Amino acid sequence: MALSVVDIYQKFLNKTNCGDCGYSSCLAFASMVVSEQLPLQNCPYIDPEKLESAKKELEKQYADGKWTRRDMASDALQWARQRATSMEMTDLQQRIGGVLNRRC
Ligand code: SF4
Repeated sequence: MALSVVDIYQKFLNKTNCGDCGYSSCLAFASMVVSEQLPLQNCPYIDPEKLESAKKELEKQYADGKWTRRDMASDALQWARQRATSMEMTDLQQRIGGVLNRRC
């Protein structure tokens, strides 16, 4: 099962908001782990056994793109390409009210 920000916060972090990871709170750190793929071991206070089990789950959800930050421009371009390849173009000029110029 994928690990959410709340899962990371509740199951793995000690919730002291010490800032040793470079973030001002454990919740902010958990958010960066889930969305930006920040290494969970950047928190030095995580139980090593718990860390190993979390790493496996995080690797899987990163590979699946679950909750990670996405490149919206890349996603839009991919959608447009897929859409363009499935469009019927033979009657396009009629549908948009244009005129087909066959000089080219
Ligand atoms: S180092 Fe760990 S305990 Fe300290 S703020 Fe970061 S996540 Fe929380």
